[in-house]
Amino acid sequence: MTVQDLLLLGNPQLYQSSKAVYEYELKSLMSTAADLHDTMMDFRQKWGAGRAISAPQIGVMKRLIYMHIDRPIVFVNPSLEDRSDEMFEVWDDCMCFPELLVKVSRHRSCRIVYRNMDWQQQSMSLEGDLCELLQHEFDHLDGILSISKATGSTAFALRSQKEFTNYSRSTFDL
Ligand SMILES: [Zn+2]
Repeated sequence: MTVQDLLLLGNPQLYQSSKAVYEYELKSLMSTAADLHDTMMDFRQKWGAGRAISAPQIGVMKRLIYMHIDRPIVFVNPSLEDRSDEMFEVWDDCMCFPELLVKVSRHRSCRIVYRNMDWQQQSMSLEGDLCELLQHEFDHLDGILSISKATGSTAFALRSQKEFTNYSRSTFDL
C-alpha cells in the first residue's frame, strides 16, 4: 500500500511483455493491486484524472490491470475478444508520458475476458470510451505504447496545445 514510481517513457521495461499470473500468486498480488490504487489516486490528485493502470506501469511485469471508476475492478490475465470491425480515432493519453497526447485508432467495442482476485472467470462488454481505455491498458501488458500505434506523423500533440486537437476526454487513460 504504497505510492510507487511510474515508469516513464524511455524506460525499456515499458516495451517488455508481462507474464501470466498463476493462481498461487494472487495473494502476493493483493499488495500490487493496492499499490496500483494508491499510485493512481496520487496521480489523480496531481493531474485531476486517472481511471485505470496496468501493473507494468509500476514495474510489476504481470498481466494485471486495475480500474477504478465508480468501484475498483482488478482484471487478471485479461484477453480482448469480439473486437469490432468498426474503429474510431481518439487522442489518447498515458500516465507514463502525461504531457503527450497521441492520436490512435481503436476498436469501437469488444469484450474483456479475465479472472478476478478470487480466480473466477469473468467477462464484460465494453464500448466507446471504456473500450478504448482497456485496449490501452491491455497494450501495456504486451509492451505496446500508444506512440507505437500513432495514426501518422501528425498524431502527436503536447497537452498544453490541446486546443488545437479535438481532444475531449475528461480523464486520463492511465
Ligand atoms: Zn498508459
